[in-house]
Amino acid sequence: MKSVAIIGAGITGLTAAFYLKRKGVPVTVYEAGGRVGGVIQSIRKDGFLAEFGPNTILETSPEIAQLVRDAGLESRRLNSDPKAEARFVVRYGRPIEMPGSPLGFFTTKLFTAKAKLAMLREPFIKPCRDGVEESIAQFVVRRFNQEFLDHAIDALVAGIYAGDPHKLSLPHAFPKLKALEDNYGSMIKGQIFGARDRKKSGEVAKDRAAKFSFDEGLQVLPDALAESLGNSLKLNLPVTKLTQINDAWHVTTASSEAEFDAVIYCGPAHKLPELKIEAQSPANFSAFSEIYYPPVASVVLGFRREDVEHPCSGFGMLIPKIEGFKILGTIFSSALFPNRAPAGHLNLTSYVGGARYPKLASLPPDELVKLVCDDLRSLLGVKGDPVFQNVALYPKAIPQYNLGYGKFKDLMNEIETKARGLFFAGHYRDGVSLGDSIVSGCNIVERVEKSLK
Ligand SMILES: Cc1cc2nc3c(=O)[nH]c(=O)nc-3n(C[C@H](O)[C@H](O)[C@H](O)COP(=O)(O)OP(=O)(O)OC[C@H]3O[C@@H](n4cnc5c(N)ncnc54)[C@H](O)[C@@H]3O)c2cc1C
Repeated sequence: MKSVAIIGAGITGLTAAFYLKRKGVPVTVYEAGGRVGGVIQSIRKDGFLAEFGPNTILETSPEIAQLVRDAGLESRRLNSDPKAEARFVVRYGRPIEMPGSPLGFFTTKLFTAKAKLAMLREPFIKPCRDGVEESIAQFVVRRFNQEFLDHAIDALVAGIYAGDPHKLSLPHAFPKLKALEDNYGSMIKGQIFGARDRKKSGEVAKDRAAKFSFDEGLQVLPDALAESLGNSLKLNLPVTKLTQINDAWHVTTASSEAEFDAVIYCGPAHKLPELKIEAQSPANFSAFSEIYYPPVASVVLGFRREDVEHPCSGFGMLIPKIEGFKILGTIFSSALFPNRAPAGHLNLTSYVGGARYPKLASLPPDELVKLVCDDLRSLLGVKGDPVFQNVALYPKAIPQYNLGYGKFKDLMNEIETKARGLFFAGHYRDGVSLGDSIVSGCNIVERVEKSLK
């Protein structure tokens, strides 16, 4: 029976391992740390539930709900409160609700008349098909205007990538936006006429996708997948070396060496150059160190309800750089899901750093709490001190699919072709969201199975 090694027990590696095992393929999952989940980590403390990393899964593809069902977690799944749909973007120093309908767009105070006109003009702007790779910033200014970039897209980009819109590549970081222009000639026409195509493929647009977590936070999912793996999962065992000998891969750790027919790398891309990889055809693994992962700190604060003026009854608020605040955005965690805060309290999760202010992320925890409180005082009318705090730093958080990212994808394709049996999957290849990582884990199973045959 052919066997597979999986490096990394984040959501990608666990998803791949779970489905390979169900198909009867012997798997061994190597995890460098002492726990599973990778950047997912939820803790319950003093009646609050703090998410260190991701807060919600967006159900953009059918594989995501299927994994929850297959893992037996339907009864523990929590959909976000439908009353918490409002998203706020900061302008004029205060959070303004993002319009949720065309009528709302024309009456909102979030955009000036000039920006509203730019939206009306968008369907008539000729698509650009010169093949030159654009940044998301260039694309938005070309199709809408500078105000949309500065007051909306900059904030959205901070919310998804903690990134810089002038550097993020349109085709690599936002392939669906590029496809709307390529296929329908316009974003707005694509939104309207693309609905039928999306329905056919089972894909759901991000703004319409269900958002969910679990009763005890996102950690529930990796824990359940890990449980199903039993002793195929090896914790505290970083892989240090991969050697291709004839048709097999030898996986080496500090205390073991074992032979497999295929290896799936599900760790972060920036760690690939640290692995000693001896493939039969040499490849440039050191190039992956060029992928920029900016640092992000997540700061979960609990407040008494009466100490916060704003109702905080939505998804959260995003903050464009131009507004001059230090935090990138805040999720109203206790509005989204029950049991995230004790009765009469709020749980607010803010993010600091990213490509916008990388140095701020590594401030000492007490300074981070103060910085976040200062911004929240001004934006949400927070009065008292937090009654709960949890600070987590990801020194290398989210890969930036910046201009030129295609060379890394080409390199992965090239290595997979030359070094038969070595595969790449996860957040650095198929999209940075949790949902993307789950789909990546599902898809790699099919490719590995095919190669084993
Ligand atoms: C702060 C933050 C907030 C986020 N918020 C959201 C959100 O709300 N919604 C959303 O959809 N997405 C969000 N994301 C993105 C999403 O969480 C990630 O893209 C996804 O979880 C990545 O999973 P992964 O398995 O690909 O990688 P990881 O979670 O990075 O897992 C990789 C694993 O590989 C292990 N590893 C590394 N090297 C080795 C080695 N040599 N040997 C063995 N093991 C190794 C690591 O220890 C780690 O456990 C967020 C990310 C961050 C950082």
